[in-house]
Amino acid sequence: MVATPSSSFTLITMMLPGPDRKRIPSPYHFRVTYRNPNPGETGCIVTWEVRGGREQYQISLERTDDDALVWHCTCPDAVYHADYRHACGCKHVQGIKQVFESIGNPVGRLSARAVA
Ligand SMILES: [Zn+2]
Repeated sequence: MVATPSSSFTLITMMLPGPDRKRIPSPYHFRVTYRNPNPGETGCIVTWEVRGGREQYQISLERTDDDALVWHCTCPDAVYHADYRHACGCKHVQGIKQVFESIGNPVGRLSARAVA
């Protein structure tokens, strides 16, 4: 199964605290690399590739068996804060959640428990 090619063109750019010590706002680019054709199913719903920091990271949104939405990010901040189930300590996840809050999140409506 191959994802719809057009989905790979979804690109979001936003300003986030930069990777340097002064955390000067820098542009970060979020690109959708995978989108589950059946977002109501458990498992990975969507993944984003994140560029702009020191390294390239990957964010994924997973639906668990109990229908909760869990964010994952491969950056050190998210790994460090892995005890917090929603990776709240990671600026990449926070950034993309802000986008959904301002434009409306079609995924979030499926599960009220996704609101941290
Ligand atoms: Zn992150």
